[in-house]
Amino acid sequence: MAGCAAVNRRAEIAANLQAVDGRIAAACAAAGRRRDEITLVAVTKTFPASDVRLLASLGVTHIGENRDQEAADKVAATADLDLTWHFVGQLQTNKCRSVASYAHVVHSIDRARLVHALGREARRARRVISCLLQVGFDAVPGRGGASPAEVAALADEVAAEEGLDLGGVMTVAPLDEDPDRVFGELADLAAEIRAAHPGARTISAGMTGDLESAIAHGATLVRLGTALLGTRAAVVR
Ligand SMILES: *Cc1c(COP(=O)(O)O)cnc(C)c1O
Repeated sequence: MAGCAAVNRRAEIAANLQAVDGRIAAACAAAGRRRDEITLVAVTKTFPASDVRLLASLGVTHIGENRDQEAADKVAATADLDLTWHFVGQLQTNKCRSVASYAHVVHSIDRARLVHALGREARRARRVISCLLQVGFDAVPGRGGASPAEVAALADEVAAEEGLDLGGVMTVAPLDEDPDRVFGELADLAAEIRAAHPGARTISAGMTGDLESAIAHGATLVRLGTALLGTRAAVVR
């Protein structure tokens, strides 16, 4: 009974969304912030385009994906909807042409070579892409993201690149680190970047497990997958 399953899925996502809204509202109240300072991005990786459609019908129009092929397929399958697409995964330069064709925001800018490759493809597509600088706070480097020391120079590269707009910063808190420390450092870095680039106001931080800490430390955008859609099936790559 496909119709029945679809109705149940809609009710499930609606209940999850209500719980998420409650968490965000409580975190804002605790931090003395307004709810409308926070953008909710639903990260739909591994879930079908039909879930994107259900989210949109419930008012969630910012959608995040972390792999180009999967993102491109879902963008095509939901072309009739007015969605804002966020690319949140590691980005290879050979995927820039495709990503530049649909992404409104790229959260994973972490090196100058990527800035130039994405800028070239944005200009080619006659689009302007908002870019967030991904900062890596791992004790062990190499797990994605620029080191905090590299971020100011990278901000200047994005600001100077035609076709790209510097939107702000992003991080994924390492599992083995204290999120309050990580998000606190991100907030300091964001203030530093904003002093040189006043338009770079976005702080993309906070996932299912740590959104309260992120909002306490100034996040303006949270990226939620599990809390909205449930546990992801293991992906074999
Ligand atoms: C998967 C993913 C998320 C969502 O994670 P959850 O813990 O399921 O909320 C957020 N950000 C990025 C970069 C992701 O890859």
